[in-house]
Amino acid sequence: MQAWMDAVGNAWGRVEGSAGGKSIVSGSHVDSQCPGGRYDGALGVIAAYVALKSLLEWFGPPKRTIELVSLCEEEGSRYPAADFWGSRAILGRIEPDDPEAIPALDGGTIGDGMRAVGLDPAKVAEAKRDDIASFIELHIEQGPLLEMAGYPVGIVTGITGPREYWVELSGRADHAGARPMDLRRDPMAGAAEIILGVINTARQMGRPAVTTVGRIVAEPGGTPIVPERVAFTIDARHPDPAQRAILYENHEALMRFVAKRSDLDLTWEIVGEHQPCPCDPELVAVLQQAAAEQGIPAMLIPSGAAHDSQQMALIAPVAMIFVQSRDGRSHTPAEFTSVDHAVAGIEVLAAALHRLAW
Ligand SMILES: [Zn+2]
Repeated sequence: MQAWMDAVGNAWGRVEGSAGGKSIVSGSHVDSQCPGGRYDGALGVIAAYVALKSLLEWFGPPKRTIELVSLCEEEGSRYPAADFWGSRAILGRIEPDDPEAIPALDGGTIGDGMRAVGLDPAKVAEAKRDDIASFIELHIEQGPLLEMAGYPVGIVTGITGPREYWVELSGRADHAGARPMDLRRDPMAGAAEIILGVINTARQMGRPAVTTVGRIVAEPGGTPIVPERVAFTIDARHPDPAQRAILYENHEALMRFVAKRSDLDLTWEIVGEHQPCPCDPELVAVLQQAAAEQGIPAMLIPSGAAHDSQQMALIAPVAMIFVQSRDGRSHTPAEFTSVDHAVAGIEVLAAALHRLAW
């Protein structure tokens, strides 16, 4: 393999195809959470290497060019605002000022971090690629579904799209003893109804819809006081764009209905949003055929976590292979994937690369 490090620190390996053309790329990120596990990201880098090395040994040089990539800074552990730094650089989506503007948790900027390892922040734009035909990422599932269903491998249908709301309900502060229940404008009662309602909406839609209320603030926050204002977050996700729109419409309709009926003032703000990323149907079919050919049971599964593939999808068709995570654990040193499951995933990846490139 021809091997090099690009302008932001992504490591690449390339095998030229006899027919030339754009590259088929496989890989994942090499960084981790802090503390994190040993598999999240790194397994996908090793998987791409093992698959490509084996294919070259068995079948010789490919017709189409294949590259593997070890992406830097996906997790944002040291640079929380880096936001998929390695894959964004490949897309050409890093602004010239970003290296000096993105702070490190331990002081300085990502530009300082680049210089410390011999990279020149002024050359970030050189990492851009416009010759990638497809991207296939193997990754641990990070959830319990494959283990619960007894499948070693999952083929990802799409990566979920989160949206975060900040909701505020205002009523009127009153005495908790003297104000009769029927004469109150109590935003806590409204918030309780909305919180249970949105959670039940996701439950009724069923998997993979998820809705979480993770933070709630009541003001003034005294035991004998009907609150004046209650604010809370809603984090709601679905990988299917149409189902996702229905989930949000239902949440918003419920909020309006409860606020109106309870005579409460309602405002909300969307404070974070990422669009869902459907995997490419043709590549999904190739992975399914590859798994069947290898005799490896594979389950179609959505991804509830974010991945570099979402970024790569902006310039190329993408697909993902998941392997079991024991107890569904991830982002912890307890993270574990057995050799058998890792090998099953690599066999699917290798068989798919063979179909695409030889
Ligand atoms: Zn990861």
